[in-house]
Amino acid sequence: MDTTMTDRSGILVLGEVFAGIISPHTHEMFTAGTTLAEALGQPLTLAMLGTGFEDAEPYLESLDESINVVWHEVLEEEPFPYMAWVDIAAQLVTDGNWRVVVAPGTGIGVDWTPRLAARTGLPLASWSTGVEVIDGQVAVTRDVLGGRAETTVTCNADATFIIAMEPGMIAPSNIGSAEALTLADVFAEFSVDASATSVDTSVNRPPLKEAERVVSGGRGLVDAEGVKKLEALADALNAAVGASGAAVLQEILPHEMQVGSSGVVIRPKLYLAVGLSGSPQHTYGMKDAQYIVAINQDEGAPIFQMADFGVVGDLHKILPALVEELKS
Ligand SMILES: Cc1cc2nc3c(=O)[nH]c(=O)nc-3n(C[C@H](O)[C@H](O)[C@H](O)COP(=O)(O)OP(=O)(O)OC[C@H]3O[C@@H](n4cnc5c(N)ncnc54)[C@H](O)[C@@H]3O)c2cc1C
Repeated sequence: MDTTMTDRSGILVLGEVFAGIISPHTHEMFTAGTTLAEALGQPLTLAMLGTGFEDAEPYLESLDESINVVWHEVLEEEPFPYMAWVDIAAQLVTDGNWRVVVAPGTGIGVDWTPRLAARTGLPLASWSTGVEVIDGQVAVTRDVLGGRAETTVTCNADATFIIAMEPGMIAPSNIGSAEALTLADVFAEFSVDASATSVDTSVNRPPLKEAERVVSGGRGLVDAEGVKKLEALADALNAAVGASGAAVLQEILPHEMQVGSSGVVIRPKLYLAVGLSGSPQHTYGMKDAQYIVAINQDEGAPIFQMADFGVVGDLHKILPALVEELKS
Protein backbone atom coordinates (compact mmCIF):
# COMPACT_ATOMS: atom_id res chain seq x y z
CA MET A 1 0.00 0.00 0.00
CA ASP A 2 1.23 3.46 -0.85
CA THR A 3 1.38 5.48 2.34
CA THR A 4 2.59 8.83 1.16
CA MET A 5 1.41 11.91 2.96
CA THR A 6 -0.68 13.16 0.08
CA ASP A 7 -2.60 9.88 0.00
CA ARG A 8 -3.81 10.14 3.56
CA SER A 9 -6.61 12.50 4.18
CA GLY A 10 -9.72 12.71 6.24
CA ILE A 11 -10.52 12.31 9.88
CA LEU A 12 -12.65 9.38 10.96
CA VAL A 13 -14.48 9.55 14.28
CA LEU A 14 -15.72 6.21 15.57
CA GLY A 15 -18.79 7.17 17.60
CA GLU A 16 -20.81 4.91 19.85
CA VAL A 17 -24.56 4.36 20.03
CA PHE A 18 -25.96 2.22 22.83
CA ALA A 19 -29.61 1.19 22.62
CA GLY A 20 -30.26 4.12 20.30
CA ILE A 21 -28.55 6.69 22.50
CA ILE A 22 -25.43 8.39 21.23
CA SER A 23 -22.84 8.22 24.01
CA PRO A 24 -21.81 11.56 25.57
CA HIS A 25 -18.22 10.62 24.76
CA THR A 26 -19.09 10.64 21.05
CA HIS A 27 -19.70 14.40 21.35
CA GLU A 28 -16.24 14.78 22.91
CA MET A 29 -14.66 12.73 20.14
CA PHE A 30 -16.51 14.92 17.68
CA THR A 31 -14.80 17.97 19.22
CA ALA A 32 -11.41 16.32 18.76
CA GLY A 33 -12.26 15.28 15.19
CA THR A 34 -13.49 18.76 14.32
CA THR A 35 -10.34 20.35 15.77
CA LEU A 36 -8.15 18.15 13.60
CA ALA A 37 -10.31 18.46 10.48
CA GLU A 38 -10.24 22.25 10.68
CA ALA A 39 -6.52 22.51 11.50
CA LEU A 40 -5.53 20.09 8.73
CA GLY A 41 -8.16 21.35 6.29
CA GLN A 42 -9.47 17.83 5.81
CA PRO A 43 -12.95 16.29 5.72
CA LEU A 44 -14.49 14.68 8.75
CA THR A 45 -16.42 11.43 8.69
CA LEU A 46 -18.44 10.24 11.62
CA ALA A 47 -18.99 6.50 11.81
CA MET A 48 -21.50 5.28 14.33
CA LEU A 49 -21.18 1.79 15.74
CA GLY A 50 -23.58 0.32 18.21
CA THR A 51 -27.08 -0.90 18.82
CA GLY A 52 -30.65 0.38 18.59
CA PHE A 53 -30.34 2.34 15.38
CA GLU A 54 -34.07 2.33 14.72
CA ASP A 55 -34.28 4.78 17.66
CA ALA A 56 -31.17 6.74 16.71
CA GLU A 57 -31.94 6.96 12.98
CA PRO A 58 -34.19 10.05 13.08
CA TYR A 59 -31.50 11.87 15.00
CA LEU A 60 -28.73 10.72 12.68
CA GLU A 61 -30.77 11.75 9.64
CA SER A 62 -31.31 15.20 11.15
CA LEU A 63 -27.58 15.84 11.33
CA ASP A 64 -25.96 18.63 9.41
CA GLU A 65 -25.74 17.48 5.81
CA SER A 66 -22.14 18.53 5.66
CA ILE A 67 -21.03 15.55 7.70
CA ASN A 68 -20.31 12.15 6.27
CA VAL A 69 -22.17 9.67 8.41
CA VAL A 70 -21.61 5.96 8.19
CA TRP A 71 -23.32 3.62 10.60
CA HIS A 72 -23.44 0.02 11.34
CA GLU A 73 -25.56 -1.85 13.79
CA VAL A 74 -23.38 -4.18 15.81
CA LEU A 75 -25.09 -7.43 16.66
CA GLU A 76 -26.87 -7.19 19.98
CA GLU A 77 -25.48 -10.09 21.85
CA GLU A 78 -24.75 -11.12 25.38
CA PRO A 79 -21.95 -11.12 26.28
CA PHE A 80 -20.83 -7.97 24.53
CA PRO A 81 -19.54 -8.81 21.00
CA TYR A 82 -16.15 -7.10 21.17
CA MET A 83 -14.81 -8.84 18.13
CA ALA A 84 -17.72 -7.66 15.99
CA TRP A 85 -16.76 -4.08 16.92
CA VAL A 86 -13.16 -4.80 15.97
CA ASP A 87 -14.25 -6.38 12.68
CA ILE A 88 -16.41 -3.41 11.68
CA ALA A 89 -13.99 -0.73 12.86
CA ALA A 90 -11.04 -2.46 11.16
CA GLN A 91 -12.99 -2.59 7.91
CA LEU A 92 -13.84 1.10 8.17
CA VAL A 93 -10.26 2.02 9.00
CA THR A 94 -8.68 -0.01 6.23
CA ASP A 95 -11.30 0.87 3.59
CA GLY A 96 -10.48 4.55 3.96
CA ASN A 97 -7.10 6.14 3.77
CA TRP A 98 -7.50 8.20 6.89
CA ARG A 99 -4.97 10.58 8.30
CA VAL A 100 -6.38 10.22 11.81
CA VAL A 101 -8.93 7.92 13.42
CA VAL A 102 -10.48 9.17 16.67
CA ALA A 103 -11.71 6.23 18.74
CA PRO A 104 -13.51 5.93 22.08
CA GLY A 105 -11.68 5.44 25.37
CA THR A 106 -14.82 4.39 27.19
CA GLY A 107 -14.94 1.20 29.27
CA ILE A 108 -15.78 -0.68 26.10
CA GLY A 109 -13.44 1.35 23.91
CA VAL A 110 -10.36 0.55 26.03
CA ASP A 111 -11.02 -3.06 25.28
CA TRP A 112 -11.50 -2.99 21.54
CA THR A 113 -9.36 -0.05 20.36
CA PRO A 114 -6.02 -1.80 21.15
CA ARG A 115 -7.33 -4.80 19.20
CA LEU A 116 -8.19 -2.45 16.35
CA ALA A 117 -4.62 -1.15 16.38
CA ALA A 118 -3.21 -4.69 16.49
CA ARG A 119 -5.51 -5.85 13.69
CA THR A 120 -4.70 -2.92 11.40
CA GLY A 121 -1.04 -2.63 12.44
CA LEU A 122 -1.47 1.08 13.11
CA PRO A 123 -0.07 3.22 15.93
CA LEU A 124 -2.45 3.97 18.79
CA ALA A 125 -2.31 6.78 21.35
CA SER A 126 -4.57 5.67 24.19
CA TRP A 127 -5.69 7.77 27.19
CA SER A 128 -5.52 10.90 25.04
CA THR A 129 -6.63 14.09 26.74
CA GLY A 130 -6.28 16.59 23.91
CA VAL A 131 -5.39 16.99 20.25
CA GLU A 132 -3.84 19.77 18.21
CA VAL A 133 -1.86 20.27 15.02
CA ILE A 134 1.68 21.64 15.38
CA ASP A 135 3.64 22.43 12.20
CA GLY A 136 1.34 20.16 10.22
CA GLN A 137 1.85 17.24 12.62
CA VAL A 138 -0.89 15.80 14.76
CA ALA A 139 0.10 16.18 18.43
CA VAL A 140 -1.72 14.33 21.17
CA THR A 141 -1.50 14.89 24.92
CA ARG A 142 -1.84 11.69 26.93
CA ASP A 143 -2.23 10.72 30.54
CA VAL A 144 0.51 8.42 31.71
CA LEU A 145 1.25 6.73 35.06
CA GLY A 146 -2.44 6.62 35.82
CA GLY A 147 -2.89 10.34 35.27
CA ARG A 148 0.05 11.41 37.46
CA ALA A 149 1.91 12.77 34.44
CA GLU A 150 1.13 13.99 30.96
CA THR A 151 3.08 13.51 27.77
CA THR A 152 2.75 14.72 24.19
CA VAL A 153 3.23 12.42 21.23
CA THR A 154 3.28 13.26 17.56
CA CYS A 155 2.83 11.01 14.58
CA ASN A 156 4.25 11.33 11.12
CA ALA A 157 1.79 11.60 8.29
CA ASP A 158 3.00 8.36 6.70
CA ALA A 159 0.70 6.19 8.80
CA THR A 160 -2.86 6.49 9.94
CA PHE A 161 -2.81 7.50 13.60
CA ILE A 162 -5.46 6.09 15.93
CA ILE A 163 -6.24 8.32 18.89
CA ALA A 164 -8.35 6.86 21.70
CA MET A 165 -9.73 9.72 23.78
CA GLU A 166 -10.10 9.56 27.55
CA PRO A 167 -13.71 10.36 28.44
CA GLY A 168 -14.43 13.63 30.22
CA MET A 169 -11.19 15.38 29.20
CA ILE A 170 -12.37 17.47 26.29
CA ALA A 171 -15.47 19.65 25.91
CA PRO A 172 -18.35 18.00 24.04
CA SER A 173 -19.77 19.68 20.96
CA ASN A 174 -23.02 19.31 19.09
CA ILE A 175 -22.64 16.99 16.17
CA GLY A 176 -23.34 19.09 13.15
CA SER A 177 -21.90 22.37 14.32
CA ALA A 178 -18.66 22.03 12.40
CA GLU A 179 -18.26 23.83 9.13
CA ALA A 180 -16.09 23.20 6.09
CA LEU A 181 -16.81 19.50 6.01
CA THR A 182 -17.58 17.57 2.86
CA LEU A 183 -21.08 16.84 1.70
CA ALA A 184 -22.09 13.21 1.41
CA ASP A 185 -24.16 10.66 3.17
CA VAL A 186 -22.64 7.24 3.11
CA PHE A 187 -24.59 4.25 4.24
CA ALA A 188 -22.39 1.24 4.38
CA GLU A 189 -23.12 -2.40 4.60
CA PHE A 190 -20.51 -4.50 6.26
CA SER A 191 -20.20 -8.22 6.48
CA VAL A 192 -19.24 -9.14 9.99
CA ASP A 193 -18.08 -12.54 11.01
CA ALA A 194 -19.06 -12.26 14.64
CA SER A 195 -18.72 -16.00 15.06
CA ALA A 196 -14.99 -15.91 14.40
CA THR A 197 -14.00 -15.99 18.05
CA SER A 198 -17.28 -16.57 19.81
CA VAL A 199 -17.80 -19.49 22.13
CA ASP A 200 -18.62 -22.80 20.53
CA THR A 201 -22.17 -23.27 21.79
CA SER A 202 -22.42 -26.74 20.31
CA VAL A 203 -20.30 -27.93 23.21
CA ASN A 204 -22.12 -28.22 26.47
CA ARG A 205 -19.68 -26.66 28.92
CA PRO A 206 -20.77 -25.01 32.14
CA PRO A 207 -20.94 -21.19 32.01
CA LEU A 208 -17.68 -19.61 33.17
CA LYS A 209 -19.21 -17.52 35.93
CA GLU A 210 -21.00 -20.44 37.55
CA ALA A 211 -18.62 -23.32 36.90
CA GLU A 212 -17.15 -25.25 39.83
CA ARG A 213 -14.12 -26.09 37.70
CA VAL A 214 -12.37 -23.76 35.31
CA VAL A 215 -9.47 -24.51 32.99
CA SER A 216 -7.85 -21.26 31.80
CA GLY A 217 -5.25 -20.86 29.11
CA GLY A 218 -2.72 -18.15 28.41
CA ARG A 219 -0.17 -17.09 25.84
CA GLY A 220 1.58 -20.46 26.22
CA LEU A 221 -1.25 -22.11 24.27
CA VAL A 222 0.19 -20.37 21.20
CA ASP A 223 -2.57 -21.22 18.70
CA ALA A 224 -5.80 -23.07 17.92
CA GLU A 225 -4.04 -26.40 18.41
CA GLY A 226 -3.13 -25.39 21.96
CA VAL A 227 -6.74 -24.29 22.54
CA LYS A 228 -7.97 -27.73 21.41
CA LYS A 229 -5.75 -29.37 24.03
CA LEU A 230 -7.09 -27.00 26.68
CA GLU A 231 -10.70 -27.71 25.65
CA ALA A 232 -10.09 -31.45 25.74
CA LEU A 233 -8.97 -31.12 29.35
CA ALA A 234 -11.94 -28.89 30.18
CA ASP A 235 -14.31 -31.50 28.74
CA ALA A 236 -12.62 -34.33 30.59
CA LEU A 237 -13.15 -32.37 33.83
CA ASN A 238 -16.59 -31.01 32.92
CA ALA A 239 -15.03 -27.57 33.37
CA ALA A 240 -15.55 -24.15 31.81
CA VAL A 241 -12.82 -22.61 29.67
CA GLY A 242 -11.20 -19.34 30.75
CA ALA A 243 -8.55 -17.14 29.19
CA SER A 244 -5.79 -14.74 30.10
CA GLY A 245 -5.64 -11.29 28.57
CA ALA A 246 -2.77 -12.36 26.33
CA ALA A 247 -4.72 -15.32 24.92
CA VAL A 248 -7.58 -12.94 24.14
CA LEU A 249 -5.26 -10.39 22.54
CA GLN A 250 -3.81 -13.16 20.39
CA GLU A 251 -7.41 -13.86 19.35
CA ILE A 252 -7.15 -17.55 20.16
CA LEU A 253 -9.83 -17.27 22.86
CA PRO A 254 -12.73 -14.78 22.98
CA HIS A 255 -13.01 -11.89 25.41
CA GLU A 256 -16.06 -13.33 27.12
CA MET A 257 -13.74 -15.97 28.51
CA GLN A 258 -11.24 -13.49 29.95
CA VAL A 259 -10.63 -13.84 33.67
CA GLY A 260 -9.30 -10.82 35.52
CA SER A 261 -9.65 -7.15 36.22
CA SER A 262 -11.09 -6.42 32.79
CA GLY A 263 -12.79 -9.78 32.45
CA VAL A 264 -14.82 -11.86 34.87
CA VAL A 265 -14.13 -12.43 38.55
CA ILE A 266 -14.81 -16.03 39.57
CA ARG A 267 -14.51 -18.26 42.64
CA PRO A 268 -14.56 -21.85 41.36
CA LYS A 269 -13.65 -24.85 43.51
CA LEU A 270 -10.85 -25.75 41.11
CA TYR A 271 -8.90 -23.33 38.88
CA LEU A 272 -6.37 -24.76 36.48
CA ALA A 273 -4.03 -22.08 35.13
CA VAL A 274 -2.34 -23.34 31.98
CA GLY A 275 0.46 -21.50 30.21
CA LEU A 276 -0.30 -18.20 31.87
CA SER A 277 2.13 -16.32 34.06
CA GLY A 278 -0.21 -15.02 36.79
CA SER A 279 -0.18 -11.28 36.19
CA PRO A 280 -1.94 -9.14 38.85
CA GLN A 281 -4.65 -8.31 36.30
CA HIS A 282 -5.32 -12.02 35.83
CA THR A 283 -5.09 -13.18 39.44
CA TYR A 284 -7.54 -10.43 40.43
CA GLY A 285 -10.18 -12.56 38.74
CA MET A 286 -9.34 -15.98 40.23
CA LYS A 287 -7.39 -15.52 43.46
CA ASP A 288 -10.33 -16.69 45.57
CA ALA A 289 -10.61 -20.07 43.86
CA GLN A 290 -10.57 -22.89 46.43
CA TYR A 291 -7.79 -24.90 44.75
CA ILE A 292 -5.40 -23.49 42.22
CA VAL A 293 -3.33 -25.75 39.99
CA ALA A 294 -0.74 -24.23 37.66
CA ILE A 295 0.97 -25.73 34.64
CA ASN A 296 3.86 -23.65 33.38
CA GLN A 297 7.25 -24.39 31.89
CA ASP A 298 8.87 -21.56 33.86
CA GLU A 299 9.29 -22.54 37.49
CA GLY A 300 9.70 -18.86 38.37
CA ALA A 301 6.25 -17.92 36.97
CA PRO A 302 4.34 -15.86 39.59
CA ILE A 303 1.30 -18.13 39.30
CA PHE A 304 3.20 -20.82 41.25
CA GLN A 305 3.31 -18.52 44.29
CA MET A 306 -0.44 -18.81 44.70
CA ALA A 307 -0.91 -22.35 43.39
CA ASP A 308 -1.80 -25.21 45.72
CA PHE A 309 -0.29 -27.59 43.21
CA GLY A 310 2.14 -26.83 40.43
CA VAL A 311 3.45 -28.73 37.43
CA VAL A 312 6.58 -27.42 35.73
CA GLY A 313 6.67 -28.50 32.12
CA ASP A 314 5.45 -28.11 28.57
CA LEU A 315 1.66 -27.80 28.51
CA HIS A 316 1.53 -29.21 24.98
CA LYS A 317 2.79 -32.54 26.37
CA ILE A 318 1.15 -32.38 29.80
CA LEU A 319 -2.41 -31.60 28.68
CA PRO A 320 -2.86 -34.62 26.36
CA ALA A 321 -1.26 -36.88 29.00
CA LEU A 322 -3.66 -35.53 31.65
CA VAL A 323 -6.66 -36.07 29.39
CA GLU A 324 -5.55 -39.67 28.74
CA GLU A 325 -5.13 -40.23 32.47
CA LEU A 326 -8.57 -38.77 33.27
CA LYS A 327 -10.24 -40.86 30.58
CA SER A 328 -8.75 -44.07 31.91
C1 LIG B 1 -5.65 -2.30 31.83
C2 LIG B 1 -5.28 -3.75 31.70
C3 LIG B 1 -6.22 -4.71 32.00
C4 LIG B 1 -5.91 -6.06 31.87
N1 LIG B 1 -6.84 -7.00 32.21
C5 LIG B 1 -6.51 -8.29 32.17
C6 LIG B 1 -7.45 -9.29 32.57
O1 LIG B 1 -8.60 -9.03 32.92
N2 LIG B 1 -7.03 -10.58 32.53
C7 LIG B 1 -5.78 -10.96 32.14
O2 LIG B 1 -5.47 -12.16 32.15
N3 LIG B 1 -4.90 -10.04 31.73
C8 LIG B 1 -5.24 -8.72 31.73
N4 LIG B 1 -4.33 -7.80 31.31
C9 LIG B 1 -3.09 -8.28 30.70
C10 LIG B 1 -2.06 -8.66 31.76
O3 LIG B 1 -1.32 -7.53 32.16
C11 LIG B 1 -1.08 -9.69 31.20
O4 LIG B 1 -0.46 -9.16 30.05
C12 LIG B 1 -1.73 -11.01 30.82
O5 LIG B 1 -2.47 -11.51 31.91
C13 LIG B 1 -0.65 -12.00 30.45
O6 LIG B 1 -1.26 -13.14 29.94
P1 LIG B 1 -0.48 -14.51 30.00
O7 LIG B 1 -0.17 -14.85 31.42
O8 LIG B 1 -1.22 -15.51 29.20
O9 LIG B 1 0.86 -14.19 29.18
P2 LIG B 1 2.33 -14.12 29.67
O10 LIG B 1 2.50 -13.22 30.83
O11 LIG B 1 3.17 -13.90 28.47
O12 LIG B 1 2.63 -15.60 30.21
C14 LIG B 1 2.66 -16.72 29.39
C15 LIG B 1 3.12 -17.88 30.26
O13 LIG B 1 3.05 -19.07 29.53
C16 LIG B 1 4.16 -19.88 29.88
N5 LIG B 1 4.38 -20.81 28.78
C17 LIG B 1 4.75 -20.50 27.49
N6 LIG B 1 4.83 -21.62 26.76
C18 LIG B 1 4.51 -22.65 27.58
C19 LIG B 1 4.43 -24.07 27.40
N7 LIG B 1 4.69 -24.65 26.20
N8 LIG B 1 4.08 -24.81 28.45
C20 LIG B 1 3.84 -24.26 29.66
N9 LIG B 1 3.90 -22.92 29.89
C21 LIG B 1 4.23 -22.15 28.86
C22 LIG B 1 5.29 -18.90 30.08
O14 LIG B 1 6.29 -19.46 30.92
C23 LIG B 1 4.58 -17.72 30.74
O15 LIG B 1 4.62 -17.81 32.15
C24 LIG B 1 -4.63 -6.46 31.43
C25 LIG B 1 -3.68 -5.49 31.12
C26 LIG B 1 -4.00 -4.15 31.24
C27 LIG B 1 -2.95 -3.13 30.90
